[in-house]
Amino acid sequence: LPEALKVGDVAANPGETRWGSATSVELRDGTRVSLPVIVMNGREKGPRLAITAATHPTELVGVRAVQIALRARIDPSELSGSIIAFPVANPLGMQFGEYVSPHDLTNMSVAYPGSRDGTPTSRLANFIWENAAKHADLVMDFHENVKPCLHFSLVHHSTPDVENRALEAAKAFGITLIRGSKASFALPGTKAGDLTFSGVCLRNGIPAFTPEFEGSTEISFSENETSVRAAVRGLQNVLKKLGMLKGTVEPQSEVKVLNGDFEFWGMTKADRGGIVHRLVDVGTKLPIGTPIAKIVNVFGDELETIQMPVEGYLWGWTVGNPATNRNWSVQCGGTIAFVFRET
Ligand SMILES: [Zn+2]
Repeated sequence: LPEALKVGDVAANPGETRWGSATSVELRDGTRVSLPVIVMNGREKGPRLAITAATHPTELVGVRAVQIALRARIDPSELSGSIIAFPVANPLGMQFGEYVSPHDLTNMSVAYPGSRDGTPTSRLANFIWENAAKHADLVMDFHENVKPCLHFSLVHHSTPDVENRALEAAKAFGITLIRGSKASFALPGTKAGDLTFSGVCLRNGIPAFTPEFEGSTEISFSENETSVRAAVRGLQNVLKKLGMLKGTVEPQSEVKVLNGDFEFWGMTKADRGGIVHRLVDVGTKLPIGTPIAKIVNVFGDELETIQMPVEGYLWGWTVGNPATNRNWSVQCGGTIAFVFRET
């Protein structure tokens, strides 16, 4: 029979779901900030799944999906295996509603595997790494882009066996699948060469991928929100694919899904500063040279037209995101949009 599953201070017996504070970090004034965890221990033995949401605490679709899936939809007495979910992986950023942790100016997405004697964010990352990710059969790190954007899963590179297990799980999740670029980029709050959480997992032989959902300023967090529904369905699909739940994988019929072999190309940049006017839709194939946005100055003069650097698609915009780029404007050298292409 399976044994009790303990993650820090939270333990669940077989057939139980338990939640609470797994561990905490201490701030300058002695305040302890808790890392919340939901531990679901299946009645039968099976794979171990680790899930993180709100690694960027401005991205809350995944938090809702974890709550609904683990508290309402999945019955631990019908589960084979176990799920360790951190609904708010970065409670430090969450204190201020920020994308990164203000306490140590760390982007938790690239803080793994972290360190036991590091900064507060590094310690939280290290706890998740040591107590959940390192022993998992699959890791999913939930993120999002701001509407208008495509729902997609990003799968980075690894050895063929580990990579194939990650790809099979991401296919079952069911949203558009995009491979990571083999080139390195500085994403917002990172430097070139930094590995994201799922990248660190894959490098260490743990299948992992990053589902990216559509966030928006008007989200209600209802169970009927399209992005919440897609996230919950994707999670249940993965559990079915891994044999942890009975049932068949359901297609993601409510969001746009592109079929094909895609890889991340990079981000387009502006040379001029001004307000960004969008000219194209996300998820639509665009020939090289297609004007995708124009930069307009404060007087209304057009300064620059941004073109597709390759034949491909946009999955979303790097501007227009209140959390990272504040609004739909850019300064010279700033990025405009995420580009991916067929391989
Ligand atoms: Zn994110």
